[in-house]
Amino acid sequence: VKFVYDFTEGNKDLKDLLGGKGANLAEMTNLGLPVPPGFTITTEACKVYLDSGEEPAALRDEVSAHLAALEGRMGKKLGQADNPLLVSVRSGAKFSMPGMMDTVLNIGLSDKSVQGLAKQAGDERFAWDSYRRLIQMFGKTVLGVDGDLFEDALEAAKKAKKVAVDTELEAADLKKLVAKFKKIVKTEAGRDFPQDPREQMDLAIKAVFDSWNGDRAKLYRRQERIPHDLGTAVNICSMVFGNLGPDSGTGVAFTRDPASGHQGVYGDYLQNAQGEDVVAGIRNTVPLSELERIDKKSYDRLMQIMETLENHYKDLCDIEFTIERGQLWMLQTRVGKRTAGAAFRIATQLVDQGLIDEAEALQRVTGAQLAQLMFPRFDEKAKVEQVGRGIAASPGAAVGKAVFDSYTAVKWSRSGEKVILVRRETNPDDLDGMIAAEGILTSRGGKTSHAAVVARGMGKTCVCGAEELEVDTKRRRMTVPGGHVVEEGDLISIDGSSGKVYLGEVPVVPSPVVEYFEGRMHAGADDADELVEAVHRIMAFADRKRRLRVRANADNAEDALRARRFGAQGIGLCRTEHMFLGDRRELVERLILADTETEREEALKELLPLQKSDFVELFEAMDGLPVTIRLLDPPLHEFLPDVTELSVRVALAEARQEPHENELRLLQAVHRLHEQNPMLGLRGVRLGLVIPGLFAMQVRAIAEAAAERKGAKGDPRAEIMIPLVGTVQELEIVREEADQVIAEVQAAAGTELKLAIGTMIELPRAALTAGQIAEAAEFFSFGTNDLTQTVWGFSRDDVEASFFTSYLEKGIFGVSPFETIDKDGVGKLVRDAAKAGRATRPDLKLGVCGEHGGDPESVHFFHEVGLDYVSCSPFRIPVARLEAGRAAS
Ligand code: PEP
Ligand code: MG
Repeated sequence: VKFVYDFTEGNKDLKDLLGGKGANLAEMTNLGLPVPPGFTITTEACKVYLDSGEEPAALRDEVSAHLAALEGRMGKKLGQADNPLLVSVRSGAKFSMPGMMDTVLNIGLSDKSVQGLAKQAGDERFAWDSYRRLIQMFGKTVLGVDGDLFEDALEAAKKAKKVAVDTELEAADLKKLVAKFKKIVKTEAGRDFPQDPREQMDLAIKAVFDSWNGDRAKLYRRQERIPHDLGTAVNICSMVFGNLGPDSGTGVAFTRDPASGHQGVYGDYLQNAQGEDVVAGIRNTVPLSELERIDKKSYDRLMQIMETLENHYKDLCDIEFTIERGQLWMLQTRVGKRTAGAAFRIATQLVDQGLIDEAEALQRVTGAQLAQLMFPRFDEKAKVEQVGRGIAASPGAAVGKAVFDSYTAVKWSRSGEKVILVRRETNPDDLDGMIAAEGILTSRGGKTSHAAVVARGMGKTCVCGAEELEVDTKRRRMTVPGGHVVEEGDLISIDGSSGKVYLGEVPVVPSPVVEYFEGRMHAGADDADELVEAVHRIMAFADRKRRLRVRANADNAEDALRARRFGAQGIGLCRTEHMFLGDRRELVERLILADTETEREEALKELLPLQKSDFVELFEAMDGLPVTIRLLDPPLHEFLPDVTELSVRVALAEARQEPHENELRLLQAVHRLHEQNPMLGLRGVRLGLVIPGLFAMQVRAIAEAAAERKGAKGDPRAEIMIPLVGTVQELEIVREEADQVIAEVQAAAGTELKLAIGTMIELPRAALTAGQIAEAAEFFSFGTNDLTQTVWGFSRDDVEASFFTSYLEKGIFGVSPFETIDKDGVGKLVRDAAKAGRATRPDLKLGVCGEHGGDPESVHFFHEVGLDYVSCSPFRIPVARLEAGRAAS
């Protein structure tokens, strides 16, 4: 194998091997764009290192060969005393990953070569500044020295000199600073700063490899569900300098606005600075448009390159560039992160420009982004007290208590508080606080600052660079214009779409996207919201492409109607137990307590018309579409009063010598029905088999409701679903009784009802014997909640609050299996059961109605295993439609 690729050898499709940065540097090189020459060490080399603890044997020689070639091309040697070649060493995984070692610049500088650089550049100050940056970055990221020590020393140097910014320090000051920095390294790292340039490079490469397994990197991967075994590539790139004076500089640019998607000139530029200064938000940048005035030639060339890149990648690109004495260099490009709204707009804009087709447009958006757009926003009419305005870095409306450090953010959010993390600026150490917070507010930094980039990636609300806010993290407070002080724990509200910051809690209103789905806002109108327009079009693309149908989990007409507006093509799960609550509980109590057949029949007779009217409403709301009604599932004790409460009542009545016969009977029933493990007890079909008449009553209610709707010229399409079946025998018994009831109702109504009878597949045994069960079932609906519970042996009501956090932290799974289907275990049962069921009954209808039916990743899985539909809660229907469309394109 080959472990090192020259930039001229790779291309953008080699991200697995070269990482995102390396693949794109190669792509730009091959497009003929000005990229400083260099080479990339592959992720394969990293993987060998991570697995064995040692770099692959061949790596050193390969690096030497590529370095020699680079030195030949540049006409100077790494660290050469009189005319040094300097390189940067940068990490570059397949996915960009905050928390990893990022960059060490100026590798190759030493006590000797710093002199050579000074001569060669004709600028002593520049050379010493470059050297002190190397020691600082190298010390911090490679040798693990606390970065604050360098920062403090730099601050002290500025103070001693009475200057405000680094650029005012002169060569002599920087020389002293270098000595100071070297001392810090010696004391803290227990070794001298390495003077051998090759040793610098090798150590930096190793540090990049090691940073793959840093805590923050691991945390980020778990958050973003990035596999832990990808490894990172390392890019070695010859240095160009943005800090060679006013005709030099560095910047970042977007080919479109990552917040709105609009085309234009977006980015930040910093004159006389080196790369990381911009991203770190340390000094204030100027808008990219200013570059036109500062250096028209470079500006024009940059605009031209941006157009080339957009047309080439057919997408929004973000770019890092450096200008060295009037010469423009491209240091990085990638398909840029964007807000959810911009993703939808950009996808439709690119379709209109003819750059991509509908199927590709669907790949440019995600269900998670759509879900984000369906969040509420701040009420524009609310009375608010605005205290600042920063940059709208990541949209959303967030309300919470102000906290000023990551630790408190995590602690408070664990105890159920909503918090806003307020910082001057964030750095990778703030990552877990950012995850815990509702939103992030900073007083420094632009759209490309750490806070902004990371928050956008996480879909978190973020306002950054709100400069008039004085954030004092030491005293845990922030002073707003006018002098008011926000203390830790005070409520604030931030609007990531406008950048506005408010005191107190601002009320929120529904999103325009929800208003659109609800039919209260329309696409196509002259003044239509741009976002709604884009969502409307993308949804149409998805509906055209998808094979999966989407149904709703709904138990009442109101939810059913909303689901229909949201695009539901039927009801996949009506949980009838929800119809047994409220004032009907008493009837259910009588049913449970019945001592005689007559008493029981009385109770059932009273329940029948109530159930029937529920179903009539539901069939009306879903007229013409399938409605799957599940017979009673939960254990009966759920309908009885709490045992402690009841015991107290009985004891009190006894003490007072009051009559308490009923309470006593109830208490006895509660005791009789008590189960240690009700989830695995008398519920579902088991209940139907031991309580005579219960399922028959429900089937009769369904059949009579259907007959009534038919009589009213409706088109009811009921499907009767039996829960918790484990063996075909259970189903056969229930089925026989149901068929009889249906036949009676049909005869009485003089009409054929065409009611389908099917079952849930939610127990491992049902899945394993699906071939047999299909003989008695016209459809299967996978109950992946119970199936996950029983396959894993995880109590669905307990585990997420108990040990799942530690499972997630240990990386046992990246996401709860109750949220995203466990493909290898639960998913395998689904796949096999679907196949076995269809082998028995080729026209068997297959769906899923567990929570997974609305989860993006799971929807793709259900598409792939050939289900006919997914069913989910009404609000997730648009997401499921979109993902079903994406899965099919
Ligand atoms: C299931 O188990 O997946 C299901 C849909 O049923 P319930 O959640 O009501 O148990
Ligand atoms: Mg279930």
